[in-house]
Amino acid sequence: MRLLTYERGGAPRAGLLLGERIFDLAEASSGDLPLDLLEFIDAGPPALERARQLGDDARTHSLPLAGTRLLAPIPKPRRNIVCVGLNYAEHAAESRVTQGIPEHPVYFTKPPSTVIGPEASIPWHGHVSTRIDWEVELVAVIGRRGRDIPEERALEHVFGYTVGNDVTARDLQARHQQWYKGKGLDGFCPLGPWIVTADELPEPQSVRLSLRVNGVEKQNAGTSDMIFNVARLISVWSLGMTLEPGDLLMTGTPSGVGFARKPPEYLRPGDVVEAEIDAIGVLRNRVALE
Ligand code: ZN
Repeated sequence: MRLLTYERGGAPRAGLLLGERIFDLAEASSGDLPLDLLEFIDAGPPALERARQLGDDARTHSLPLAGTRLLAPIPKPRRNIVCVGLNYAEHAAESRVTQGIPEHPVYFTKPPSTVIGPEASIPWHGHVSTRIDWEVELVAVIGRRGRDIPEERALEHVFGYTVGNDVTARDLQARHQQWYKGKGLDGFCPLGPWIVTADELPEPQSVRLSLRVNGVEKQNAGTSDMIFNVARLISVWSLGMTLEPGDLLMTGTPSGVGFARKPPEYLRPGDVVEAEIDAIGVLRNRVALE
């Protein structure tokens, strides 16, 4: 299933995408399902089963995808988004990190205020940074609570996957050493356009990511190139830490980011960034003056 959050009457609502139409989960289920996609994820397998059963009678509660404003699938995560640095060997090499390929996953976080949806603008923080860069990433959405999750069971804790862009102010990243500041500015985490449920993407290591700026391809790689696969990232993250439904994990970016290009390239106001994962869809955002 493809599950999304769309805007209706100025409020976010959970929807199911079937073909080119969005079915409002709450209305189409006569109120059995919640208005909010996070609450839907909290409700676990029974909610998924109920959504699957939405039949033809739901058709009266649908609207066309075209012309409907999509928000991030989870517009306001309850906690910071957990991210992984240097998880593709070629990206680690282009980043010229002195320590080489990491032995253990390198985790950091982005605050919930970074999240924006598809079609929303990436704010141009020109007074703060002039080196704003892109990073396409596969994002896992946690569906089931757990701690000390063994690697072989880790994917059972995934509700689904979406596309993310780990937008980064490289000058701030360098200036402040730790990554939180340079990757934590408002609007620096576009997510979407929707979540593909885990049953439809049973092999997260066999999808293709790409990213274009103004139509020109900058990144293109397979998740098979990850140093630590999704299961291992979840398992290690969960050691001594409880993962909650709705938690988000950005799994790292492949090579082709702007700062490592020769000469370096950075985003400018008006640029359009398209982050794509073949099995999910295209996340398109324009950089805009606020
Ligand atoms: Zn990243």
